[in-house]
Parts: sequence; C-alpha cells; structure tokens
Amino acid sequence: MAIKAVVFDMDGVIYRGSQAIAGVPQEIARLQKKAKVLFLTNNATKSRADYVFHLRKFGIRARSEEIMTSAFGVAHYIREKFGRGKQVFAIGENGLLQELELEAGARLAREEGKADIVVCALDRQLTYEKLAQATNHLARGAYFIVANSDPALPLEFGYAPGSGAIAAALITASGRQPDAVVGKPSTYLIDKLLEMHKIKPSEAAFVGDRLDADIRMANKKGMLSVLVLSGVAKKPDVKKAPKKDRPSLVLPTAAKVGRALSI
Ligand SMILES: [Mg+2]
Repeated sequence: MAIKAVVFDMDGVIYRGSQAIAGVPQEIARLQKKAKVLFLTNNATKSRADYVFHLRKFGIRARSEEIMTSAFGVAHYIREKFGRGKQVFAIGENGLLQELELEAGARLAREEGKADIVVCALDRQLTYEKLAQATNHLARGAYFIVANSDPALPLEFGYAPGSGAIAAALITASGRQPDAVVGKPSTYLIDKLLEMHKIKPSEAAFVGDRLDADIRMANKKGMLSVLVLSGVAKKPDVKKAPKKDRPSLVLPTAAKVGRALSI
C-alpha cells in the first residue's frame, strides 16, 4: 500500500544535540509537499509549542497538532481517563507542567496536599524531596503514570539517567509498578497521533533510531518501520535484534527516506 504519512522521531533522526543531520530538514520540506509529515518523541521536557519553535531552528516548519510528545501524551491520557481538573503531582520539567495545565486542566500539587495522580518524567532539577513526596502520594494510592521508560539519555559526551531511571527509584520506594507508561515502545502516543490525523497504520511509515523503542512500536502497530543509523542503533545491532525489533528498512540517515518509500 502506498505510504501517505511519514512519522519522524526527532533525536538521532532529525538532529543530534544542536546539530541537524545533513539533508534531513530539506528532505522533510520536500516530503511535506507530497505526504503528511508528523513528529513523535519520547521527550517530556518540552511542550508541543516548544517543539514548533525548536524545529524552526533547523529550518523545519511544523504545527503543534503535527507533533506528539510524551508530555502532551501524559496530559491527554489524564484528560481521557479522568477528565480535567485533577490534582497531579509531577516530577518533570516546564514543558510537562504546561501540557498538564493546558491539556488536562490539572491542578499541580506542589506540597503535602492530596494528589490523585503522580506523573514521572525526566527532571533535570530532581531532588530527594520530590522523590519523597511522590513516594508518599503513591503510598496513599495515587494513580502512577510514567512518561517513558528510557533508562538513559545520550549526551554529547556520555549518558545521564532518563525518565525510566527516575521511575525506577519510585517503583523501588513505593513497591508499585506504574499504572501506565505512555512513551515508546508503548503504542499510546502513535495511536493518538494517527487517530487525530485519521491515518491508518498500514499507510504510514515510522522513522526512528532506536530498535527497542521506535522500531518495536512501529512493528507492534503494523507500520512500515525505518531504522536510521544516525542515532543510537548501529548496523551490528540490527542482526542481534529479536524479531519484534527488526526494521522493515535500514538507511544511513533520513536524508533520502522519501525515495526509499517511493514518495
Ligand atoms: Mg531518537
């Protein structure tokens, strides 16, 4: 079936740090004239509005409805499941807090007060105090949502603990497993994005750089899965990967992804 939509992961696919991957912004501009182009990231530190601005720095024009992040995903999940106006205790950064307020109308519980929901995401201002408060809200029965299970995030010169590592501290301290994890490889974010744009998975390709997140999610969903070698996964990893993580296509970068998909 012809591909009508291409969904791009961002980090390791479009850019690495502040550097665009050569030819990718141009390819995205070309594809935008011929197909639906969407963006999906596990990153929960920025709002969709932040990403519109961020992508523009690389010369990419996108509207916030075309962008799905785990910050927006968490807020959308809360609104769908619980409605607006819940008390939410969040470990996370401004982008997440903004989406929680905008999309879920959440009241952010900052101190000892009651919280209906605990959200855990990457927080580079994490403190012991925040972990303690979240642990206590969980002990009192708050619903437990994790933005994504990414263990670590690749930085320019190494790694730092990711959302999954922070969640692991709460899991250990509270003795509870999360009630929901919205980020890849869960299909929640892609389900919502395709639904919002009325696109069938069989008509869409997903372009990502991680086998156990991007490719696993795309395969689960029945999308064409395209691995690019410009990020986390390297060629030898593909051979070692279990069947569920094997991509339909492997490309050096996303600079010529349209041609590979006959778009
Ligand atoms: Mg990536």
